[in-house]
Amino acid sequence: MNSSYKIYDEIKNHIESFGYRVINGKEDYWDSTTKTICCNTKRKIERRIIYLLHELGHIYLFQKSNYDKKFSSLIEGKKNNRFTVSEIEQEILAWDEAEKLASRFGIPIDENFYKFKFENLKTYIL
Ligand SMILES: [Zn+2]
Repeated sequence: MNSSYKIYDEIKNHIESFGYRVINGKEDYWDSTTKTICCNTKRKIERRIIYLLHELGHIYLFQKSNYDKKFSSLIEGKKNNRFTVSEIEQEILAWDEAEKLASRFGIPIDENFYKFKFENLKTYIL
């Protein structure tokens, strides 16, 4: 098996150990109700790895004891300015977690990582 696929499976298994399931599909999404992460198989494996790391970052944030207080507006779900700012804050923090997690799985952080991060964050602002 190609080493990238091996790394992908390692991250997937780690995510699944938190009670989430990772499925393959035509788009990237996260469903917190069903604890499902869908990974777009049209993307290159390198991008899918980065995407999974980012989602794992979300899981780590979610497990922190201050999550409910820090992101109360996201839990409330009212789409106001505070919600928008919290959403972006959470995304940036999940990317920070992903960057930290990368070394644990032996993934080098290169410009591809930052490019994908930028493209993803942009969707929350523009
Ligand atoms: Zn995210």
